[in-house]
Amino acid sequence: MPEAGWCDGCKAYVWLDESGGCVNGHEASMVSGVYEAEPDRDLLEEALESAERAAERAGEAAKGAWEEARPLLKDAGATAEKAANELAEGLKRFGEAIAGRTPRASDPSPPPPEPEGTPDDSESG
Ligand SMILES: [Zn+2]
Repeated sequence: MPEAGWCDGCKAYVWLDESGGCVNGHEASMVSGVYEAEPDRDLLEEALESAERAAERAGEAAKGAWEEARPLLKDAGATAEKAANELAEGLKRFGEAIAGRTPRASDPSPPPPEPEGTPDDSESG
């Protein structure tokens, strides 16, 4: 699990590099409160999924329109096919661009709050 901590240089929670320093170049001595943080994978996956659905819908609509228009466009077939291919290519690139984003690009979430009311096992009487 990736590690994050408070950086005095950045005055923010940051991801740590392999040597325990801030990913923005500050040394490990400036980092305190190190904790393990979950990347915002849920958010990323949610964005990916909705983009995928949108691309699917757009793809189906474009395909339907293309199938309908195809007989009418026999003469201009080459041009229309090229346009359809360009649309498909654009959708593909859009998906790739989103998929290329790494969770690490965003700031880590702050550490979880300290548990309150720790079990009191030092009961003596
Ligand atoms: Zn820093």
